[in-house]
Amino acid sequence: MVDKLEKIWLDGKFVNWDDANVHILTHTLHYGVGAFEGIRAYQTKDGKTSIFRFREHIERLFDSCSTYQLKIPYTVDEIMNAAVELIKINKLKSCYIRPLVFLGSEAMGLYAPNNSVRVSIIVWEWGAYLGKSGLENGIKGKISSFFRNHTSTLPKAKISGNYINSILAKREAKNAGYDEAIMMDSNGYITECSGENIFVVKKGKIYTPSAGLPLLPGLTRDSVINIIKDFNIPFEETIFGRDFLYLADEIFVVGTAAEITPMTTVDDRVIGTGKPGEFTKKIQQKYFDVVNVTDENYHSEWYYFI
Ligand code: PMP
Repeated sequence: MVDKLEKIWLDGKFVNWDDANVHILTHTLHYGVGAFEGIRAYQTKDGKTSIFRFREHIERLFDSCSTYQLKIPYTVDEIMNAAVELIKINKLKSCYIRPLVFLGSEAMGLYAPNNSVRVSIIVWEWGAYLGKSGLENGIKGKISSFFRNHTSTLPKAKISGNYINSILAKREAKNAGYDEAIMMDSNGYITECSGENIFVVKKGKIYTPSAGLPLLPGLTRDSVINIIKDFNIPFEETIFGRDFLYLADEIFVVGTAAEITPMTTVDDRVIGTGKPGEFTKKIQQKYFDVVNVTDENYHSEWYYFI
């Protein structure tokens, strides 16, 4: 459940939470052409709020829209300013920020080139996406029987309709008693999870699937790669199949919502000791230090203070 707050930003205005409604003919409801972002704002030790990699998330929203030919009628700065105001109006310090771009209700049919491009921003407090226990003790992964969309089928972008593929996988995994789905492409290469990127530790080296595969190259993935390099841990972006996961020493999954979550079993095979491993814990700790801004000078370009 999302707890109700005071306001939502919709098409340039701050509207009451209960009034942020759309018509049933809203094109995106029917066909899924919408784009969204997921961003986290963290309260720092001195009471400020830091929005992590804020501009890059909003720029990715514009990239998603441009890939799918949606023209946002605002600038990056206008969207950022609106989100900042919204956080203040709703008196939040730490929160999740969800901008959503969607097509209006003027015309039905697939082409609908003149439908309005509408934008909303919603903010709310969101705890650990894969659960607090998941963060601390690890989650159970299952290789999905659903393959990740090939980029020639659905170009990579954070598009609402693309998430149907993830939802099929996530529901299959949860219904079978697992926490998260790991998705292969149609060649059997591991790509990512339903809503996170994946990292594997093997003999002191860390691997992640190459960004050339059909996966969302997440901003958390990029932050983690930087952290790994700053620690001088051997690292490689590459391709691998499910066998590599089964024989891993450690696995962790990363994303804005999920942060850094250890994965301790895959298809019921225990990974390493079955507990979050040393590399995972070290990177998770560093990531939390980073997003909570224990050192403003560490990749200072990642922070946006309000
Ligand atoms: N892959 C998928 C499919 C996702 O939905 C997400 C979450 N946005 C990620 C990876 C991680 O991306 P980010 O780190 O930018 O949140």
